[in-house]
Amino acid sequence: MNNIQAVIITIGDELLIGQTIDTNSAWIAQRLNHLGINVLRRVAVGDTREAILNALDEEWLKASLIILTGGLGPTSDDITKPLLCEYFGGTLTVNEEVAAHLKEIFGRRNRPILARNMKQAEVPDNCTVLFNKLGTAPGMWFEKNGKIIISLPGVPFEMKHIMEVEALPRLKQLAEGDVIIHRTVFTAGEGESFIAERLMPFEAALPEHIKIAYLPDSGFVKIRLTGKGAEVAVLEAEMMNLQNQLVTTLGDIVIANEDVTLESLLGTTMQGNGKTFGFAESCTGGYIGHLITQLPGSSTYFKGSIVSYDNEVKENVLGVKKETIEQKGAVSEETVIEMATGALKILNTDYTLAVSGVLGPDGGTERVKTGTVWMAVANKDRVLTKVQHFFYDRERNKEMAAKMGMLLLWKFINGKQ
Ligand code: AMP
Ligand code: MG
Repeated sequence: MNNIQAVIITIGDELLIGQTIDTNSAWIAQRLNHLGINVLRRVAVGDTREAILNALDEEWLKASLIILTGGLGPTSDDITKPLLCEYFGGTLTVNEEVAAHLKEIFGRRNRPILARNMKQAEVPDNCTVLFNKLGTAPGMWFEKNGKIIISLPGVPFEMKHIMEVEALPRLKQLAEGDVIIHRTVFTAGEGESFIAERLMPFEAALPEHIKIAYLPDSGFVKIRLTGKGAEVAVLEAEMMNLQNQLVTTLGDIVIANEDVTLESLLGTTMQGNGKTFGFAESCTGGYIGHLITQLPGSSTYFKGSIVSYDNEVKENVLGVKKETIEQKGAVSEETVIEMATGALKILNTDYTLAVSGVLGPDGGTERVKTGTVWMAVANKDRVLTKVQHFFYDRERNKEMAAKMGMLLLWKFINGKQ
């Protein structure tokens, strides 16, 4: 079954009102993509019979594979199973393996098993059951007129488990044929429009089976190449060549040859160099430390972050001079320099990053406008400073301050600034 065209339908009123963010379809799309299966659409619908039937009818025309999630629970809002059974003209019948699994689960929890729970053991007699070891709602695999419909529970970890163990291996066998390969180049310091201008000749020369996408995010742009082809080795060589061309054309705005985060970029730089860093964070309130510690193994190079939000902490802990803060202000080049050099001593690290800014919405003055963030990076020989002006809301300004700070640190350590 070459060239599978997939549609993902997520079911649940909670998705439509934004109470639950639909992470299921993003995850499924990524997995299908890996198998070379093209995802045509991702659709979210409510918990009504009409909405689900309409979506099925519409998507059935274009898709050769439909994956549904949600609506398989034991409560009245879960209507997917009887509806699919009817759609494919089957009869709900008890599946003994699922029934035994349910009894085992409830027995283990020492809970009485209700009739509505036992109903979960009933599955359409015209589907293949995708066993759910982690929960009570089994997945279902239907085939009709050469098309496949897979129905999975909404709970993300159960859905992922059934996909990994039951559905993806079967789909992999069917999808043999084209492969899809992505290559990403990560840039900092230039907007997507400028980059696109520079890449006009490159884009014009791209073959039909390779697409380019620009993914801007908070001062960074990721450029993704997506290639589709029959021969993995041939496509890989082609993609590698194009990625190298991108890197050469874009020069020093390229900070990585892959789709990574700044924290993992810093992690790769530090891993094995025997050096350490730490932070003095004012406006970011420890957020940079949080990002760094998201990575396992960061303890080998990250010593700690001093959250010096109040000026008293800047003075008493980091040793910033009272006069510096009084004369220059807490958000100033002089203060971040003293924060960074102070942290170098207190934390006993090879490098430090210090950040101090006014994130807004209030707090700006004539001298220091809202959105101003000063940052400094230091080692024992040198201090590098930078000021940035952000114009967003508080949350995004904080995100930007953290990312730009990490970028400055990365450039400093790598001798790029
Ligand atoms: P259901 O199978 O419809 O009973 O869904 C059970 C739970 O799974 C819901 O309460 C949601 O929290 C979660 N859920 C359902 N659909 C999604 C989805 N598309 N993405 C992420 N979580 C979901
Ligand atoms: Mg539901």
